[in-house]
Amino acid sequence: MAVTNYDVLVIGAGNAGLTAALAAREQQMRVLLLDKCPKTSRGGNTRFSGGGFRFTYNNLDDMRPMLPELTDEEAARMEVGTYSNVEFFEDVMQVTEYAADKKLTNILVDRSYDTARWLTDMNVKWILSTSTHAVKMGGKIKFPSGRVISVNDGGLGLVEMLFPTAEKNGIEIIYEAKATALIVDPKGRVSGVRVQTAEGLVDFQSRAVVLAAGGFEANPEMRARYLGTGWDLVKVRGSRYNTGEVLSLALSFGAQAVGHWSGCHAVLVDAEAPDVECAYEHRYSYPYGIMVDINGRRFVDEGEDFFSYTYAKCGREVLRLPWRTAYQIFDSKTRPLLRSEYNRGFHVSADTIEALAKKLPGLDWENVVKTVNAFNDAVNDAPFDPSKHDGKSTSGISPVKSNWAQRLDIPPYYAFPVTCGITFTFGGVGITENGEVKDTSGNVIGGLFAAGEITGGSFFNNYPGGSGLMKGAVFGRLAGTSAAAFAKANRA
Ligand SMILES: Cc1cc2nc3c(=O)[nH]c(=O)nc-3n(C[C@H](O)[C@H](O)[C@H](O)COP(=O)(O)OP(=O)(O)OC[C@H]3O[C@@H](n4cnc5c(N)ncnc54)[C@H](O)[C@@H]3O)c2cc1C
Repeated sequence: MAVTNYDVLVIGAGNAGLTAALAAREQQMRVLLLDKCPKTSRGGNTRFSGGGFRFTYNNLDDMRPMLPELTDEEAARMEVGTYSNVEFFEDVMQVTEYAADKKLTNILVDRSYDTARWLTDMNVKWILSTSTHAVKMGGKIKFPSGRVISVNDGGLGLVEMLFPTAEKNGIEIIYEAKATALIVDPKGRVSGVRVQTAEGLVDFQSRAVVLAAGGFEANPEMRARYLGTGWDLVKVRGSRYNTGEVLSLALSFGAQAVGHWSGCHAVLVDAEAPDVECAYEHRYSYPYGIMVDINGRRFVDEGEDFFSYTYAKCGREVLRLPWRTAYQIFDSKTRPLLRSEYNRGFHVSADTIEALAKKLPGLDWENVVKTVNAFNDAVNDAPFDPSKHDGKSTSGISPVKSNWAQRLDIPPYYAFPVTCGITFTFGGVGITENGEVKDTSGNVIGGLFAAGEITGGSFFNNYPGGSGLMKGAVFGRLAGTSAAAFAKANRA
C-alpha cells in the first residue's frame, strides 16, 4: 500500500523527532511522525531522561521567561553565575578531549539559549534543578554554571508536553510503525519510507525524510560489535526500542559513519537494577565517598570534577573491573549529601568498615579496611565545600582523590554496589550544518536529514550533562526547518 502527499516524514518520536516535526510544521508543511513503539511507551530515550538542558546565559534574569513563577525573594537566594558561549564550547571540547566536531559544537552552543526559549513557546514547563544539581550553603542555593533548569517532571514531562503540542498543531503521528527501508525517486533523492505496521507494509511517500530514531544502545549485538567486549552485558538505562536499525539502514543506504563508534555515555547504576529501562537507579554521588572494586582497591579519582563532567565515563571504568561491579562507600557525615535515588534500591550498612565489607559476598574485606585506612591518612585538612572544587584532596595514594576527600570515620558506614548502565551511543551518521545527511564521499544525500542520537560527531569518550537533550532540540529544529525548505523547493 502507498500513502502519498507528505512534505516531511520524521522517523522516531523522541526529543529530536518531535522538535523536527514541530519546526517543519511551523513552515506549514504536512508532517508525519512515525515511531515503532506503542503509544503507551512513546518518547524514546527522551522519556527516560532527567529533562536537564544545558544552555548559555548571562544571569538568572535570562531564565525568567522559562520560570515565570520565580519570585524576587527566591531569585535573591540563587547563585547561577554566567555561562558564556566560550564556556559551553570549552566544556564540550575538554570532556571530549577536543575531538568533538567544532562546527556542530558551535551550532549547539550558539543556538542553545534560543532553543530553550523556543521549547517554552512549544509549551515546555521548566523548574530549577535544585534537587539534582544545586548545593545549599549559607542560605544560598548554588548551581553549577550551565545546568540550572530542567523540564518539569523530567523527560516524561518533556514528551508529555511536546506530544500534545504536536497533535494540536496538526502533526500526524502513527505508533507501532517501524521504518524498514528508505524509498528513492528516479533522481536518487529520498522520497519516502517503507514502514511495517500492524496492517502490513506501507510505503509513505514524502518530499523529505528526517531520521531521528536514536542510537543502538538497546541492541546487545550492535553494542558488542561497535563498543567492544563486555558491552553486550551492560544494563540499558533508556528505551528498549533504540535498537539501531534505522542507523544501520542509513549506513547501508550510503550515509557517512561519523564520530566515536566505539564510545558511549555510560554511568553507574544500582547493581540490582532491572536490565532495561532502569533510568531512575543511577548512583552519581561518588564525589562524596570512595569507590572500590571487588578486590577492595580504589580505581578512579572520585573527586576529579563535579559529577556532571565525569558521570558519563564512569560506567566504562566499572565495566573493566572484575564482576563489572564496584562499591561506593560513604560514612554518616556524607550520607545526607547523597541524591534521593540512594534512598531506594540495594545497599548495606554497618558500624565498622570491616563489618560493612563482610556483608558483601566476594568483596575482599581485609583490603577494603586497608584502603579506607590509607585513604583516611592521606586526606588533607582543607575545608570541605561541595559547591566548588575545594582542593580537599589526598596525597601519597594512587589514584589521588582531587576534591571533596573527607575521611570515612563516622559510623554507620554505607556501601552501594554499582555496575555499568549504558545511556546512549556516540557514533552516528554525518550531517552538514543544515542537518542534511552526508554520504560516504561527504556529499549531501538529497531529501535525507537527521538529528539527535542517530547523528555522530558531537560527543567522544565523555560529555557534559544536559547536552544530549539540547543537541536533540537544536538539531531537531534545524533538521525540521531544512527538511521543510527542501520539501518546499521540490514541491511539484
Ligand atoms: C536515563 C537517561 C537519562 C538522561 N538524562 C538526560 C538529561 O537529563 N539531559 C540530557 O541532555 N540528556 C539526557 N539523556 C540523554 C537524552 O535522553 C538523549 O540524548 C535524547 O533523549 C535522545 O533523543 P533522540 O530524539 O535522539 O532519541 P530518542 O528520544 O531515543 O527517540 C528515538 C525514537 O526512535 C524510535 N525508533 C527506533 N527505531 C525505529 C524504527 N525502526 N522505526 C520507527 N521508530 C524507531 C524509538 O522508539 C524512539 O522513540 C538521558 C538518557 C537516559 C537514557
